[in-house]
Formats: sequence, C-alpha cells, structure tokens
Amino acid sequence: MTFQELDLIEPILRALTEEGYTKPTPIQSKAIPFILQQKDLLGCAQTGTGKTAAFAIPILQLLQEKPLEKWEKSRIRTLILTPTRELAIQIGDSFSAYGRHTDIRHTVIFGGVGQKPQTDALHKGVDVLIATPGRLLDLINQGFIKLNQLEIFVLDEADRMLDMGFVHDVKKILKLLPAKRQSLFFSATMPPAIMTLADTILTRPAKVEV
Ligand code: AMP
Repeated sequence: MTFQELDLIEPILRALTEEGYTKPTPIQSKAIPFILQQKDLLGCAQTGTGKTAAFAIPILQLLQEKPLEKWEKSRIRTLILTPTRELAIQIGDSFSAYGRHTDIRHTVIFGGVGQKPQTDALHKGVDVLIATPGRLLDLINQGFIKLNQLEIFVLDEADRMLDMGFVHDVKKILKLLPAKRQSLFFSATMPPAIMTLADTILTRPAKVEV
C-alpha cells in the first residue's frame, strides 16, 4: 500500500515525501479510507503506531477539499481533544508538517500557561483546534470558543483521558457539539468504561485495530 493508493491530494503527498515517509503504517492504511468516506471510527492503537497521522492526514484533506464559502465567517471545523500538553503539542506539530502545503490553520491550547497568546491565535481564526479539556472549557466559558459549527471531533487517547479524571470535562464538552458531525475515537485499550463512552460519541463506527 502506498500513500498514492489512499487517494491523497498532491499538497499532502508532497509534505509526506518531505517528511521522509515512504509508506503508510498499518493504522494509516486501515483508518484513512474510512475517515475520507466521512465515517465515524473506533481506533484501537498505541502511541508509536503512526496514529496521529492516521487522523491528521485525512482531516487535512477533508477540510482542504471542502473550503468554507467566501461569505462564511471563520469557524472551528475540527476539535481534537487530548489528555496532556505534550500530546497536544505533538499533534500540533503533525498538523504543521502534513498541512504545510494546505490552507488549513490550526492552533493548540492547554493549561498551565497564560491564555493571552492562545486567545490571540483563536481571534485570527483557526480551522482545527487541538486542546486539553480543562483549558478548553475555560475558554468556552469565557466566550472565546464556539463549537456549534464543528464538523469533525476527535477524542485521542480516551483511556488516558479517563485515567486522568477528565470524564466529566469530556461529557460537558460533548454536550456543546452538534449532533451531526464525524467523530473519531482512539484508545490504546478498550475496557468496558471506554466502550460505553465510545457508544455515546460514535454512530455506526468503522472499527480499526492494530
Ligand atoms: P504516533 O504514533 O502518532 O505518535 O507516531 C509515531 C512516530 O511515527 C512519529 O514520530 C511520526 O512522525 C512517525 N510516523 C508516522 N507515520 C509514519 C510513516 N507513514 N512513515 C514513517 N514515519 C511515520
């Protein structure tokens, strides 16, 4: 399997070549076609499998291929929720790398640092928001972020999210998302509590395991 065979667009193929990626990892070959078909996805994969690119690449392509109309106000089109600042930063770096030849803008928000640079970035307009739950709720409550026009929602490292006690924050955030959306759910393990959470988020998901 090659990246060309996954029907990726030229600006993304070019970025992957520049990254030195020669072929997709198993999670990428399995997940990318479902995500490009705009299906919900339940992905069982550890860090190190290429999981971030498995969702970042098709999300960049979906957004790039369906740009906002000129008259539309800039809005957040994708939310990626992740448990830690380190993961958030890594995901942001992946969007920078794979999206460098696209028009898709992203920003990363997390707690423990001043919020001004983050709200400044939000004011400029972003398509993709990568966030940890606490700071996201903070900025939503202060009116800096609206998620009512979201198209794609990603819950990354769901099992770690629950282990770190973020379940209530995640549920609060879920209530603010439009019902009609594409949702992607990734977890390294799938114990019953995770499957229950996945059931509340996903609609007829494709299932991918590596
Ligand atoms: P992740 O599982 O998302 O944390 O990714 C693990 C590492 O694999 C990251 O450093 C990526 O840059 C790298 N990576 C992801 N996909 C590929 C690929 N198709 N070819 C080579 N390296 C990759």
